[in-house]
Amino acid sequence: MKAHDGMYIGGEWRAAAGTDTIAVVNPADEQVIAHVPAGIAEDVDAAVFAAHEAFPAWAATPPAERAARIAALRDVLVARKDEIAETVTAELGAPLQFSQMVHAGVPILVAGSYAELAASYAFEEKVGNSTVYAEPVGVVGAITPWNYPLHQIVAKVAPALAAGCTVVLKPAEDTPLTAQLFAEAVHEAGLPAGVFNLVTGLGTVAGQALAAHPGVDLVSFTGSTAVGKQIGATAGAAVKRVALELGGKSANVILPSADLAKAVGVGIANVMGNSGQTCSAWTRMLVHTSQYDEAVALAAEAAAKYGDRIGPLVNAKQHTRVRGYIEKGVAEGARLVAGGPEAPREQGYFVSPTVFADVTPEMTIAQEEIFGPVVSIIRYEDEDDALRIANGTVYGLAGAVWAADEAEAVAFARRMDTGQVDINGGRFNPLAPFGGYKQSGVGRELGAHGLSEYLQTKSLQF
Ligand code: NAD
Repeated sequence: MKAHDGMYIGGEWRAAAGTDTIAVVNPADEQVIAHVPAGIAEDVDAAVFAAHEAFPAWAATPPAERAARIAALRDVLVARKDEIAETVTAELGAPLQFSQMVHAGVPILVAGSYAELAASYAFEEKVGNSTVYAEPVGVVGAITPWNYPLHQIVAKVAPALAAGCTVVLKPAEDTPLTAQLFAEAVHEAGLPAGVFNLVTGLGTVAGQALAAHPGVDLVSFTGSTAVGKQIGATAGAAVKRVALELGGKSANVILPSADLAKAVGVGIANVMGNSGQTCSAWTRMLVHTSQYDEAVALAAEAAAKYGDRIGPLVNAKQHTRVRGYIEKGVAEGARLVAGGPEAPREQGYFVSPTVFADVTPEMTIAQEEIFGPVVSIIRYEDEDDALRIANGTVYGLAGAVWAADEAEAVAFARRMDTGQVDINGGRFNPLAPFGGYKQSGVGRELGAHGLSEYLQTKSLQF
């Protein structure tokens, strides 16, 4: 795995300002596979300066030309998709097939969608005697997590570029190689120097410097709610635009009329994919009391089938944290029906696919985001009870509803306090807005809604 020992700033790889580095570890075998520079405030300054310099020309570039550059970027991601998948597998640990399909595949779809949107979006409209222009906000500071290393980057950078903004990216410490590969792709696609810049480094150093930088006009952050609150406060104090994509504790609501086996099977797969490290995962399965025992048996069987097809967790800290939650579930009286806290392998940060039955809504494992392959099955008595439980956390990112009749599922979904709901296993749509209600965040990513986050309006009256 080739790693760059500098930062990508102003269209070139430049020496880092400091000498510290971050070790990149393969979580499947705990071996160090590379080192990248740990950026400091001076690196962030240089990157913001480059983005600022590049902004006027990029903002003035006709949308059709911006679209062509984003299409070229998409083509490079397509050409290098095997390398992307291998890199994500090496630093995140996801099984190669999952990396190919999801970690490499989804960013290609999203980049493609923004190549089209940049060309077709109405950046200008007539409203009565006014013309309203949608103009780019300016320099974007993008801070991303490790769980979908390339998707999280593309879901910010592609709409920002489509809008005419320039970007400084600070990717997660655990997955900087994918971010460096993305910077190479930007370069290969021929984006003008300074339009995209990369500073690797620690969140508390480089991330904080970027979020607080006076030259950054908009901070787009995806990560934990705790850090999101800090970033929101910093941005608020500076009257700076901010988008926050935070945690989740989503409910998979199986109404009594649903195809139970399908709803349980898809529900388990939804959580186990990416080893449970998906912010929108349906980690609470809500089942009517009349079907509870059958659902538990089906879920235990489905989780056991996953066995060693599941990848490791990203790092030692998450490994300890997730197993701690499983121990807490047992201590609070939930019943383990699959998996458990024991590490299934001697090497690597693996956790067995775990299912808890007899979980009550107020238990820690039903309230807090675990970010591991752990499903809690909760019993409900009637629809109102199911709704109370589904809405009964501080989060509101995603969810699922299953019913024989689509209208019945839709009626329930409309009462959920959450940003998106899959009806009877609805497919991922890269054009649908993604983001949270309540403490799951502020703002939306993907599609036209994601593009509008990077725009501000100016009205001219005639
Ligand atoms: P994290 O909040 O620790 O880190 C996210 C990013 O923020 C990293 O790049 C990190 O370096 C940086 N960071 C950390 N401290 C910072 C600070 N003080 N100032 C500025 N930047 C800082 O989260 P994580 O552990 O990387 O990711 C897991 C969390 O992210 C989970 O809670 C998950 O739900 C959430 N997440 C949410 C979404 C979403 O779209 N809503 C998507 C993925 C992950």
